[in-house]
Amino acid sequence: MTTRNDCLERDQHDPLAPLRDQFDLPAGVIYLDGNSLGARPKVSLVRAQQVIAQEWGHDLIRSWNTAGWFELPKRLGNLLAPLIGGVDGEVAVTDTTSVNLFKALAAALTMQAQDPASAGRRVIVTERSNFPTDIYMAQGLTAWLDRGYSIKLIDSPEELPAAIGADTAVVMLTHVNYRSGHQYDMKASSALAHAAGALIVWDLAHSAGAVPVDLHADGADLAVGCTYKYLNGGPGAPAFIWVPKKHQAKFQQPLSGWWGHAYPFAMAPDFKPADGIARALCGTQPIVSLALVECGLDVHRQTTMAAIRSKSLALTDLFIELVEARCAAHPLGLVTPREHAQRGSHVSFTHPHGYAVMQALIARGVIGDYREPAIMRFGFTPLYTSYADVWDAVEILREILDRQDYNVDAKRDAVT
Ligand SMILES: *Cc1c(COP(=O)(O)O)cnc(C)c1O
Repeated sequence: MTTRNDCLERDQHDPLAPLRDQFDLPAGVIYLDGNSLGARPKVSLVRAQQVIAQEWGHDLIRSWNTAGWFELPKRLGNLLAPLIGGVDGEVAVTDTTSVNLFKALAAALTMQAQDPASAGRRVIVTERSNFPTDIYMAQGLTAWLDRGYSIKLIDSPEELPAAIGADTAVVMLTHVNYRSGHQYDMKASSALAHAAGALIVWDLAHSAGAVPVDLHADGADLAVGCTYKYLNGGPGAPAFIWVPKKHQAKFQQPLSGWWGHAYPFAMAPDFKPADGIARALCGTQPIVSLALVECGLDVHRQTTMAAIRSKSLALTDLFIELVEARCAAHPLGLVTPREHAQRGSHVSFTHPHGYAVMQALIARGVIGDYREPAIMRFGFTPLYTSYADVWDAVEILREILDRQDYNVDAKRDAVT
């Protein structure tokens, strides 16, 4: 079995190990929640001070031009695009994942409605275990449209082929499931949707910066995702939306704010969508938060998604191996697929007292999180998680379980 010394040795030979120093991680913490809120790049603080003191404080409104504030959603989109297989002019960093999903879904339904061959399609296919906001946004959109759209929820990825049919307008999937860590085969699923005449919208919230994504090669139609998870953009950092060039002319979204106008400063009374990705924008962005997205992307630019993926699989394999070996006496159930192709960058285990055990872990500095029902979630971020971290986290878990050192009556917290 792998020893702690083996882990230290792997850390010594890890080509990503030097990047850890670019993050500010508190002493005594093993941070396994970068899938929910990424750690802070050290330069974020410098950048925040620059934006607040210089760009805002000193340069004031001139910064919309001189500091490039107005172009920021598109410039950051171009920096992010290579991580997801996009190209220049196809990604905007803006708004939230929920809002971008609303825009993407509305645009996809409109594309279908305007195509005579597809106009009668009224079903959105998604997963019951999708992150709830994705389902809620679809529910809100279809209820508001009031045109007979309905949502079909599948109960497992295996049900996807049978669920897509001649009535399907859009398939809306999250690439890596937030709870189980299951990863869809993007190419195969996109092909299924297209063979049936449907469009496919992908949510990359748990994929961007965590697993290689190649939206063009894998035939995606539209995509959205998060920057505050594996991209380390900061709490509530604006999300992204990807609209490939081939769909941009047909991409019409209902949140037609002035930032999406062809001539925003003409102040015309009628909306005319901008050409290109700008038509996915709505209104003024939280510039301080938006600016910090660049700091996380800069760390990513120093490595490759292939290197990140290879370490991510090594870390998650190691965690599964050690938990199963060292905590074998305890009722832990692996939820995450063992097969590499079906795994994202986090690992989930059930335990009957999952919530209490997670609180005990957090109290001892091992920060993961808990998701209903009974699931303990551990995120592995190759940019700053070491092999020794994995070993130490499992050792603390083993101690807590062996000593039953957790409070089954622990009071529930809203977030962790
Ligand atoms: C994290 C996450 C979101 C977050 O949406 P917000 O609008 O940023 O709150 C949405 N969808 C999925 C699948 C997620 O994992």
